[in-house]
Amino acid sequence: MSNHLFDAFRSRMPAPGRLLMDTDDGRSLTYGDMLARSAQLAHTLLQLGVEPGDRVAVQVEKSPEAILLYLACLRAGAVFLPLNTAYTLAELEYFFGDAGPRLVVCDPARAADIEALAQKAGAATVTLDGKGEGSLTDQASRLPSDFHDVTRGEGDLAAILYTSGTTGRSKGAMLSHENLASNARVLVDHWRFTTDDVLIHALPIFHTHGLFVATNVILMAGASMLFERKFDAGRIVSLLPRATVLMGVPTFYVRLLQQGGLDRQAAKNIRLFISGSAPLLAETHKAWRERTGHAILERYGMTETNMNTSNPYDGERRAGTVGFPLPGVSLRIADPDDGRPLAQGEVGMIEVKGPNVFGGYWRMPEKTRAEFRADGFFITGDLGMIDGDGYVHIVGRGKDLIISGGYNIYPKELESEIDALDGVTESAVIGVAHPDFGEGVTAVVVRAPVSQITGVEILSAIAGRVAKYKHPKRVIFVDELPRNTMGKVQKNLLRETYRDLYT
Ligand code: ATP
Ligand code: MG
Repeated sequence: MSNHLFDAFRSRMPAPGRLLMDTDDGRSLTYGDMLARSAQLAHTLLQLGVEPGDRVAVQVEKSPEAILLYLACLRAGAVFLPLNTAYTLAELEYFFGDAGPRLVVCDPARAADIEALAQKAGAATVTLDGKGEGSLTDQASRLPSDFHDVTRGEGDLAAILYTSGTTGRSKGAMLSHENLASNARVLVDHWRFTTDDVLIHALPIFHTHGLFVATNVILMAGASMLFERKFDAGRIVSLLPRATVLMGVPTFYVRLLQQGGLDRQAAKNIRLFISGSAPLLAETHKAWRERTGHAILERYGMTETNMNTSNPYDGERRAGTVGFPLPGVSLRIADPDDGRPLAQGEVGMIEVKGPNVFGGYWRMPEKTRAEFRADGFFITGDLGMIDGDGYVHIVGRGKDLIISGGYNIYPKELESEIDALDGVTESAVIGVAHPDFGEGVTAVVVRAPVSQITGVEILSAIAGRVAKYKHPKRVIFVDELPRNTMGKVQKNLLRETYRDLYT
């Protein structure tokens, strides 16, 4: 009798007195506390009628208790279903309808509204706030602190995680105990985590990066974390001397570089800086190295697959690439239309297979079928290529590919050129409907502070460097690019904003 993922954590657990996390509001939680309090919460779930396989939908502020609730769901055999704290009531209605949860856990401030929606979907509601208080933890505090874990096998569902919704409506990815366990094990080894590691955890925990990459890796290593409810660049710099690893999205690194105190001395105790969830600009990689002496390790993953590739721990961490497939992960580049394997160096669809890859989209059998090849490879939707040394390069999403005058244009090539110009902070290149070309290449650019760079200057700077058919037809300046909570540029919003540009 076993509970596949929780047993894996348990088997690697250090002494119960060892620290699991220190929080930014001065609380500490040991591994022993984690066991006892996740047991109390697991009892609570049973009391609330949650049965094995039931979904527990959770929209709460980041807190240690939210992590304990995730672990309680594992132990009770339930399916943890975290939801972005930014979701509106209308969005929650969709998710509740889609997921059919047995229980909804929400912030007390929104309980009245959410309870009505949950009731409509047939779910009970309990509350949990950012301090870990609410009806859920009230009830738990009165229950036993040991729990007989419900039996769960490798293939049983551990979580349904909705994708970020960067390209359209979020899809619920069904992740099994082994999907999560296998990936956490691989990452612990690959990134050399030990019980002595201290991770700065400043990511949201409704997303795969903060929940599974960060938290599962710490639990699987028996390590500890500095648990920050929000990303505050000044605070992170002050925490660096107490930590050994930082995991972040690229915007973390960009904002940290704007902090005065960031230098080699401040980063002396850190052994590893990791970035993912969105492309890290080569420029950021370089600036970070100059300031701290560290080469950021970039890796690539997605909600559906956990982590697929990583730059090496030893060896060159190549800027602008996402490194090599992780042990156990097969990765190939295929023709997007027919799935034919392409030669090394050619750009095509990134397809992956391995124990990390999800079983399918929740209640979307057709979409699931459409995204897998007959031989089991998952079609990621990301376009990329493998260079002569085996490093994987992501050139963009299939949905962002521009076809202008019959030519394929990869936005990233142009963005890299434009971003490298003095006077430019960043850019997004999109295709917008065009009467002659099908799509017109359009550059949306954020100027650097005080820069007066013009569209003509940008066009003349790239004229000698990229083929004419790729040149933007228009350059538009904006104050900032639209981003979702994971720092991903929302090109679908840009395409919508400028849809009538050429008509
Ligand atoms: P949706 O699938 O709902 O449109 P999403 O794809 O942004 O949203 P996630 O699963 O959070 O949702 O993100 C996975 C995607 O993030 C990958 O498919 C890839 O496009 C991008 N990504 C992750 N890591 C990197 C990276 N290191 N470099 C470039 N892109 C990355
Ligand atoms: Mg996606």
